Amino acid sequence: MSDETEKLSSDDLYKNMPKMLFSDAVRFFEQVTEGSACPACKASKWKIPNREDNPRLCFFRPAGLARASENQYNLEIECEICGFVRLHRASPIIRWTLTNASPELIAEFHKK
Ligand SMILES: [Zn+2]
Repeated sequence: MSDETEKLSSDDLYKNMPKMLFSDAVRFFEQVTEGSACPACKASKWKIPNREDNPRLCFFRPAGLARASENQYNLEIECEICGFVRLHRASPIIRWTLTNASPELIAEFHKK
């Protein structure tokens, strides 16, 4: 595979990837799954992956399945202590962030 092909496929990957702010993912895990412990080591320090091309956004991995013709994505978060990886389907998290606006978004709205 040439460099050009690899570049193209990674652009395609990002092009179709749903966009969600890293800070929204942090809010989700703090408010919805607060304090959840790693099943392997019992720590509760999780790392959320962000995108290389835009670190403010979360990195989602294609799940390889579609629902209602929508490709599904996963958010893989990793235990900071032992590396255990747990998977969350992206769509419920994105839905949550849309119905639970961030304080920054609300402040922005009231400025107008
Ligand atoms: Zn762990």
